[in-house]
Amino acid sequence: TKKYKRNSYTIYSEELDQKASYKLAIERDLKQAIENDELELYYQPIIDLNTQKVIAAEALVRWHHPELGLISPNDFIAVAEESGQIIPIGTWVLKTACRQNKQWQDSGIPPFKVAVNISTKQLQHYDFVETVIKILKETALEPQWLELEVTESILLEDIEFIKESLLKLKEVAISLSIDDFGTGYTSLSYLRQYPFDKVKIDRSFIEDINRDLNGKRITSAIISLAHSLNMSVVAEGIENQSQLEYLSEERCDEGQGYFFSRPMPVDSLHLDLLEKE
Ligand code: C2E
Ligand code: CA
Ligand code: CA
Ligand code: CA
Repeated sequence: TKKYKRNSYTIYSEELDQKASYKLAIERDLKQAIENDELELYYQPIIDLNTQKVIAAEALVRWHHPELGLISPNDFIAVAEESGQIIPIGTWVLKTACRQNKQWQDSGIPPFKVAVNISTKQLQHYDFVETVIKILKETALEPQWLELEVTESILLEDIEFIKESLLKLKEVAISLSIDDFGTGYTSLSYLRQYPFDKVKIDRSFIEDINRDLNGKRITSAIISLAHSLNMSVVAEGIENQSQLEYLSEERCDEGQGYFFSRPMPVDSLHLDLLEKE
């Protein structure tokens, strides 16, 4: 038998093996994550730029893996979408977020919306609208306090079914936002045929505000077009004062980002909100 020395190629393939086994572990263990109570929602406040008040909180899922530690949604949502696990996980997220918002309201702090990310696979599921309505009933959260965020890519598939579902959700007074806007291929005028209330400008454009003129131009163009179509605008990923100033000048309605607050566990957000009152 030939002996190979440990060269860069073997190291590279070991790294690939590690990545593959990480992904396999994620796939395998995700099935038990809900039962084992390993998922948690963090919440990030969304601020009304006119009043400086918290107008909503976005729910962002985290996974406490017993061996691998804290896993970011970027590392498991795609896997969950592939395996179909996104359906039970998505339902868990919705139910937990609605229940939490109802608890906040009952605790007497000024009410705000809870925003929940919905994956394309969920919205394509035949049962999605009924599931959402059922969860609102079960948790006794009024529909106007729930906002659903979907990404642009959703609009390229199953157009009729998706449109119908969005209309039904809109009819019961749930708010709808289009997430990560500007990263896909849709134009705002195409969006007009869908009942969205809000556009969330993708973080990459907000990052560019201080960097180059294009970041500024694209951001202002999205804001004015969205306003002309009667949609409000949220800027995500605001990290500093100068981005915020620019966005306020351009009459962006809402903002979210590390400059205001990172996503936090329930208790920390609650304390934060009590302090601000
Ligand atoms: P997203 O919906 O675009 O969420 C915003 C992401 O940007 C979050 O990452 C948030 O922590 C991060 N972020 C917020 N402000 C700032 C900032 O100022 N600077 C920077 N650099 N980042 C900021 P996170 O929590 O890791 O979530 C990543 C993505 O995973 C989300 O992107 C969303 O697409 C997906 N995701 C999270 N939770 C869920 C969920 O419950 N269901 C589904 N389907 N997807 C989810
Ligand atoms: Ca989002
Ligand atoms: Ca986003
Ligand atoms: Ca994003």
